[in-house]
Amino acid sequence: MRMTDQRRVIARVIETSLDHPDVEELHRRAAAIDRRISISTVYRTVKLFEDTGIIERHDFRDGRSRYETVSDDHHDHLIDLRSGKVVEFRNADIEKLQQFIARELGYRLVDHRLELYGVPLDETDES
Ligand SMILES: [Zn+2]
Repeated sequence: MRMTDQRRVIARVIETSLDHPDVEELHRRAAAIDRRISISTVYRTVKLFEDTGIIERHDFRDGRSRYETVSDDHHDHLIDLRSGKVVEFRNADIEKLQQFIARELGYRLVDHRLELYGVPLDETDES
């Protein structure tokens, strides 16, 4: 893949974003660095990065695709339905359980996705 300056900027923005931004947010951040970067360039670049396996797309049910860099560090996501905030977590028991389920079904687990959707606990929930 040919890495143009604009692509490089977009790649760096995704890499340094820890909040799983959507294309519009990526565009806002990329354009702050280089204002010649258009939203359509961001769309095309994100698609290209996704096809190449550099980044991962998530659909967290709010109608917007969110992106993050693919890393060796596996994690799952909890989505706060009130604020839209995405919380990353990793749970060893869940990881083990998923492998166990796959094995029981006659498979070797190679990948999985887990998304939890929640609202923050407040006083009324705790009573
Ligand atoms: Zn993540």
